[in-house]
Amino acid sequence: MIVMKFGGTSVANSEAITRTISIVRSKLSQKPIVVVSALSKVTDTLYKISDHASVKNKMDAMELLEQLRSRHIGLAHDLMSETPSFCHQACEKVNSICDSLSSFVSAVCALGELSDRSKAVIISTGEYLSSNIICCAMNAWGIKTGYMDARKMIITGNDYLKGEPDSEAIQARVPGVVSSAYEGNDAVITQGFVSATADGEPTVLGRGGSDYSASLIGMAVDASVIEIWTDVDGVRTADPRKVENTRCIERISFEEAAEMAHFGAKVLHPLTIEPAVNKNIPIYVLNSMNPEGKGTVILQSSFIDDGVKSVSFKENILVINIFSTKMINTSGFLKKVFEIFSVNKVSVDLISTSEANISVTVDSSQNIERVVEQLSAFADVYVDRDKSQISIIGKNIINLKGLLQKAFTPLADCRIYMISQGASYVNLSFVVDRSILTDAVRQIHKYLFEDESSN
Ligand code: ADP
Ligand code: ASP
Ligand code: MG
Repeated sequence: MIVMKFGGTSVANSEAITRTISIVRSKLSQKPIVVVSALSKVTDTLYKISDHASVKNKMDAMELLEQLRSRHIGLAHDLMSETPSFCHQACEKVNSICDSLSSFVSAVCALGELSDRSKAVIISTGEYLSSNIICCAMNAWGIKTGYMDARKMIITGNDYLKGEPDSEAIQARVPGVVSSAYEGNDAVITQGFVSATADGEPTVLGRGGSDYSASLIGMAVDASVIEIWTDVDGVRTADPRKVENTRCIERISFEEAAEMAHFGAKVLHPLTIEPAVNKNIPIYVLNSMNPEGKGTVILQSSFIDDGVKSVSFKENILVINIFSTKMINTSGFLKKVFEIFSVNKVSVDLISTSEANISVTVDSSQNIERVVEQLSAFADVYVDRDKSQISIIGKNIINLKGLLQKAFTPLADCRIYMISQGASYVNLSFVVDRSILTDAVRQIHKYLFEDESSN
């Protein structure tokens, strides 16, 4: 079996879905499990709907909801104009999903209060809409396809918006659901991103979580391959939306890919790699607009050469500087500090310490108010905002003579606030002012990958 995950742009409209279905058709002999995201931008709209509902702005919430309904009904007609009964079936599904959403949103508007659970219900609707339409279209086009509800398979804890997968429960449930959905069929399809607690309470895996869904399913069925189909030719030496002349990386290790994703490369959800590593399943990153392309394969480290693979960045981070004279010669100080981060569920990326100071970076999307408040009880705390984090990723970069010089030469005139190289020697990260990020990343990329004379 193989898992094929198609992201938002790969299912954005009828042309994209037509390409996607023909890619699936070419792999039927490998028994595909298809995992789909919501149509491009739909999840963003659902977030907006939930924001409007939370402040009782029913008019705007409903207007957006009706726009979603007509986009999906239009898509069903575009895809299945020649097979009216399948088109009808798809439109009925769309209407029933949108009607339930509408009643749900009305109830939230009436209350003017949005719990995380309710938000999970709203934002997961996009995947239900796309998977139902694509399932009908595949059947309409002669690929007998079984439909699966991800909430019966992807079991998480009860953090509704960032469900933590329960590996054992997932491995116990997925094979049964898949094999019964496969009965009499050529393929099966389910939603990415969507999950539930063991009691069936709705949760989601967090933004970009469909990649993670695919690798969890791949792990549970011992897939031979996990394919992540997206809108770029594989994993590249940097984000092609920011940097010109990037190159496709042919092969990369699980560790390198995990670091890249964790340190900002949006092409993969940061936790995608973990389930695949456990079962040693290769992950391919492929372009649905160029299916003939080789893309990137992510493999065990022993198959991968040493060297710099990529420059990633996180555009908007905060540096929390913690000063305390009590830190000097005191055991347990670090424990006290990191317990505060842990209790408040704020995750830390980089850490550096000196005698009386600890600096840590955190993603600016996290709420650090309580952390700062609690740390301030025993230390002086300063938060530096508008900073960015750049990471140079590659296997055994410690062995590369002159890497530091190469990395920092283009930044000779810039302020560098923190530097950190993890003990795995896969990642060299540093913090700069957000205002120079784009320029810095381009220069570093040029220096490391384009300007052969400097290498
Ligand atoms: P999908 O909707 O298919 O999940 P995403 O938008 O989540 O797609 O991820 C693909 C995007 O990731 C690309 O369009 C690209 O801009 C971005 N990206 C960031 N870093 C990289 C990188 N190193 N290699 C390839 N793409 C990258
Ligand atoms: N649709 C979800 C999102 O936009 C999940 C995904 O696309 O991976 O975050
Ligand atoms: Mg994505």
